Order: sequence, then structure tokens, then C-alpha cells
Amino acid sequence: MFETLRRIVHAVNEAPDLERALAVIVGRVRDTLGADVCSVYLTDFDSREHVLQATEGLRSEAVGKVRLPLNRGLIGWVSERREPVNLADASSHPRYLFIHETGEDRFRGFLGVPIVQNRKVLGVLVLRQCESRTFEDDEVTLMMTLASQLAGAITHARASGELARLQHTNSLPNHFLQGLAASPGIAIGRILVVYPPADLEAVPDRPASDPQEQEESFRDAVQDVVEELEQFAKRTAKDLPAEDRALFDAWLLMLESDTLIDGTVERIRQGNWAPGALRETIEEHARVFDAMEDTYLRERAADVRDLGRRILMHLQNLEVRPVEYPPDTVLMGEEVSAMQIAAVPKGSLAGVVASRGSSSSHVAILARGMGVPAAMGVADLPVGRLDGVEAVVDGYRGRIYLSPGPAVRAEYQRLRNSDRALSDELEGLRQLPSETPDGYHLPLFLNTGLVSESRPLGIEESAGVGLYRTELPFIVRDRFPGEAVQLTNYRHVLEIFAPRPVTIRTLDVGGDKPLPYFPMSESNPFLGWRGIRITLDQPEIFLTQVRAMLRAAIGLDNLQILLPMISTVDEVDEAKLLIRRAHDELREDGQEVRMPPVGIMVEVPAAVYQIEALARRVDFLSVGTNDLTQYILAVDRNNAHVAKLYDDLHPAVLRALTEIMKGARTYGREVSICGEMAGDPMAVVLLLGMGVHSLSMGAGSLLRVKWVIRSMSRMRARELLSVALQCEDTACVRRLLLEALEDVGLGGLVLPGS
Ligand code: PEP
Ligand code: MG
Repeated sequence: MFETLRRIVHAVNEAPDLERALAVIVGRVRDTLGADVCSVYLTDFDSREHVLQATEGLRSEAVGKVRLPLNRGLIGWVSERREPVNLADASSHPRYLFIHETGEDRFRGFLGVPIVQNRKVLGVLVLRQCESRTFEDDEVTLMMTLASQLAGAITHARASGELARLQHTNSLPNHFLQGLAASPGIAIGRILVVYPPADLEAVPDRPASDPQEQEESFRDAVQDVVEELEQFAKRTAKDLPAEDRALFDAWLLMLESDTLIDGTVERIRQGNWAPGALRETIEEHARVFDAMEDTYLRERAADVRDLGRRILMHLQNLEVRPVEYPPDTVLMGEEVSAMQIAAVPKGSLAGVVASRGSSSSHVAILARGMGVPAAMGVADLPVGRLDGVEAVVDGYRGRIYLSPGPAVRAEYQRLRNSDRALSDELEGLRQLPSETPDGYHLPLFLNTGLVSESRPLGIEESAGVGLYRTELPFIVRDRFPGEAVQLTNYRHVLEIFAPRPVTIRTLDVGGDKPLPYFPMSESNPFLGWRGIRITLDQPEIFLTQVRAMLRAAIGLDNLQILLPMISTVDEVDEAKLLIRRAHDELREDGQEVRMPPVGIMVEVPAAVYQIEALARRVDFLSVGTNDLTQYILAVDRNNAHVAKLYDDLHPAVLRALTEIMKGARTYGREVSICGEMAGDPMAVVLLLGMGVHSLSMGAGSLLRVKWVIRSMSRMRARELLSVALQCEDTACVRRLLLEALEDVGLGGLVLPGS
């Protein structure tokens, strides 16, 4: 049976389109299982019908004509139950429906198997037999396996419009592909499919006939890429905020890094030719990032591979053919690289769509910086068949509509217009204070540090830095950065924002963000050795970092130190002792350092339940809602399978936040929110109601959040909070907040348009 199945699956995969795939299935299955009929009914979601789409054994003229309402007959019964229905004599079943057009009245045996993907029933695969027959277990499982194979093909066909043509509907139904919202906005344009410039993975090892010459070609190729990058950087200089231009610096740094150059040269000298040596070095480097669970850092692997392909292209002297970009280019690919984005002429880039990546990909960061709508991680994207196809990109919801019908198109044009009006309106808020109509001031701070940046965006509008993540310099190097390197980094950010406060977090690596040179392998990294647990176990790392921070703040005195992943009071006591020790030793050395305020991140449930004991020990609290949500809900924040369950507006998270506020109040401590929640317009209403003292977010959210604060009185926010706390599920909270935002005319902040 397995071999039969393998052969059918192979034949289905070889079929050039869905119509032929269906024909293969019905023909082969009928013959293999000795049934009299095999048919496929597909769901037409627009007309809410099951349509007979292929058959072997029934009248062929019925194909496309037999349309059964979704809840009728045995097909409807299989679809409702979402499990196989195996009947020796179908005609005695109460849901049996006599269908004259197919000539099915002669048959008794019935096996119907639903074709399901992501909980949606896409159709039903059916076997019929003249005489009474109960199908065997292994026949049922074969049908189930084929149904799951078909599900993928159907999804592709729906996406590319093939199914609409098959079902004889002219306009593509209002069907969309779902990805991750990576950059807000609406784009309507033509797809231009991009693909990697050279296939690095396919390069073989080969002995270098002349290592000297190989080394020279390699160095030349690197130099060519450096020049290419410098050109891109120049070209995008005017359109990109400084923060994002720094990406080019990061790539240049990578290109010039010892790991890349010396690693490859070393391999050439050991006898491999340049392309092979390059492949090995790039793979080794990229694997380090691949292994990281933090989405942002894992995405860096794509950057490394992309650089590798560029170098290879120059090594192979491949010409970059000039590309014709449509005026409203929607750049699409399995993987789109930031360099491919940079190559699109100014003004021609309407949107970006990729099957890989997430909202923390460099591509997503670039797209946001350029104000270009983007959706990443769009599964089932039939990239190969989409060049030149019209598309709508809904960057708010991460949706893609391919060949949209007139109604979808018109609706999105309307949304795009109101979206543009919204951006103009937000611009007007730049100089205004972050204050509610009833006079409550809620300062907005910046989260920064993740991208190497010389002048972070949002400096002027923010009250300071609420969270400076220090991991980057530790991760991009091949050893711990020394005190001097760290001092320079910290001094830079402290100086830019002085006299406004800058909260620098001590190292939060480990678990999901392992260091390449600090190997650890854990089966449960999120519950493992991470954050403060590592730095207290390795006090030399902690002391070096704290010394660098204290010295960097000399004369500026705007430093605050933040401790991540605190789960016990001992950790706080110990960390404070070490900070005090670093301070005292520096003073003894004659350095004019001052003791800064010290705070903790509240991001594990244990900290919530001990909030008073913790608050008593520190100067301020900062809530890391990203981790707090994942630990309270037991949902890995980077796992796409459970992404639907991850929601920081879950009633349990809201309750935890109110507990934190209560505990902090007992000791008069200020509470800041620095997870993604602080930048979400809906959540901000509740945080305002809770009386948090400040919010810290990415630069892109500052104006939107300010608009909420300026439109919603503190009193109203309190009322909404008390209603939200009665909600039993997230949907109830979201409905409430959406209505509240719509009431003050801010529905457009959540949904495109209003
Ligand atoms: C958080 O957990 O909310 C947080 C801000 O920290 P990070 O995202 O760096 O884990
Ligand atoms: Mg965290």
C-alpha cells in the first residue's frame, strides 16, 4: 500500500496544475482500490457550495455543474464532521441526497474523506461502490493521506486564481494568502519575482590549482560587493531614516569581519578553491545565527547567506542583468533580501512579500523604515507563477490578494487613501506633548540597541531610552567585547540622549539567544540559563559590563541599570552587591562614577507574585510584556504553530499587569512597560487606565501611541480597564478596545482606513 501511495503522490506532484492533479488522483485511486467511482468535490467559499470538480466513474458532464449547498447531503455531512464517513450502504443514511445529474443513484458503498488545511475544509474526496462495501482501514488512511496532499495543491490553486477559473467564477474570490504583518500600509501593484543571484549551496569543494590566485579573486569579489553596498547606501540615503541606513554599515562590517575574510582565506590556503571555501565559511557563520531562537537574530543568517551569494556572483563574474521595475513594484520572493529592496529605483517600490522571514527580518525593518507595506512568512506562495500578476498587499493584517476582483480592488483603494490621510495627520503630532485631554502626562521612551545604529530614529520625540538592549555587540563578535568597546557604545547612547534618562539592560543572552563562542545546549532554552542567571553565574561578564556602564555615565549621570529575567529576590540582592562593588572599586581608582538607579524587568510570573518584595529592593520596574506573555500563557513567542495563542491582551496578562501596578504602588515605585505591548494603540488604552508611568517602544510606534494618549482621557481609560478586567477572553477585550478607539475617531490606527 505504501508503494502505491508513494507512486500516486509522485504523479500528483508532477502534475502541472490542479486540474490534472485531480484527474490523476481520481483515476489512480479508483483503479488501485477497485472502486467504481472516485470523485473530488471542492468548496466554493463564495457561493457556499461543494462543487464536483473531478470524477472517474460518474458522468463527466456533471463536473463543474453539480453544486451542493455546504450543509446538504453526505458531502456536507463529511465536511461538517471533518472526519471520514465510511458507509456500507449510503442510501439508508438520513443525510443521503439523491443527485440525478451524476447517475450516483446506482451506488451503495460510500467513503468520504475531508480535505482540510488550517482547520478549513477545502473539499471532500469520495469513493463509491455499486454493491454494499465497507472500506478497509488502510484504504481509509490512504485516502486521508492523499487528501492532505491535495490540500496543499488546492491552496496553491486558490492563491494563483486557477481554482477560480476552474470553478468558472470570473473574478477571483475575496480570498487572500495569510502571512505576518511586517510593515503597515496598503499597496496595490504588479508583482516582480526576485530570486537569489547565485546558488551558493550548490557549489562543490574543488582543489585550488593556484591558491594565491584564488585568494586574490576572493578579495576582489569582496571589494566589488563593498562598492555595490556603498552605492546602494548612497542611493537610499534620502529615503531611509538614519537608523535603517545603519544596516548597510552592519553589512559592511560583516564583509570586513575576520570571521568572513580570514575564515575563507584560511580555507583557500588549506587547498579549497575560493567558491568552495566561501560556501563553507558562510555556512558556518550562518549556522550560528540559525541556531538562535530569537527571531531577530535568526534572521541575520539570511543576511550572511545573502552576502555570500553576492560575493559568489562576483567570483563567478556573473552579470547582474538590469531589471525592468514596474512603476508600482510589489517585490516578491521565497526570500527577499534587503539588497534586492535597495536595488529598486526610488518611488517604484509599492510593497514587499516573502514566504520566509518575520516582522523582525532586516527586510521588514527596512520596509518599515521606508514606509513600504510588507507581509512576510506568507506560506503557500506560488512564487513561480506570479511574475507580472497584480496584487494587493495589506501590511496591517499580513494579507495578500492576488489578481483582486474589482470589489476588493476598489475597497483597498479607498483604504489606501484614508491611510495616506492618517499619516499626514500623525505628522502633525510630532511637536505636541504626550498628554491626555484631562492633563495626564505619559512620557514615551524609545527601545533601541537591536540594530547597530549611529543615531536612532525618534531621538527628538522621545523622553529618553526606556530599554537599551545590549546583546548585539556580544553576538556579532567571536568573543566577549571588552570593557573599552562596551564603554564606547554606552557612552554614545548616553550622550545622544543626555540629559534624558537612558535605561541600559544588562546582558540578556542565553537560552533563545546563545553566544556563538559560549556553547550551551539545552532542551528547554526559554526555561534555562538566560539573562541574569548567566551573568550572576559568570560575575566577570556582569562586572565588566557594569563598569563600562558606570564609566560611560561619568559627567552625564543619565544612566539607569535594568536587570533582565529576575525570578528571585536573591538575584536582585546579588546583582546590587556586584553593582555596588564595581562602583566602589572604580571610586577607589579615582573615577567619578555615581550609583545609578537600578530596576528590574518583570517578565516571569514569579516576579509578579513577589512584586512587593522585589519593588522594595529596586528603584523602578520595567515590564517585559513579550516574555511575561509567553511565560504566563505558556506560548513560545517565536513558534508559528502557537502564534494564534500568543496575545498580550489575554485577560490573564491584564490581571498580572494590575497586580504589578498594585505591588509597585505599595513602595511608590514607577512602572514602565517596554515590551511590544507599549507600542500597540489598543493596549495603550488599558496601560493608561492602569496608571503606568511610562511606555517604551520602537520609534515607529511613537506617533500612533501619542495620538491615542492625546485622544483618550485618563478617566475613560480607567472605565475601559475596569470593563476589560471583566472579560473572559481576548476577543472580548479586543472588541471593547476597538469600539473605544472608533468612538474617539482612531479606528484607523488599528484597521487600515476607518
Ligand atoms: C520583553 O520580554 O518584553 C522585553 C522587552 O525583552 P526582550 O524582548 O528583549 O526579551
Ligand atoms: Mg524579555
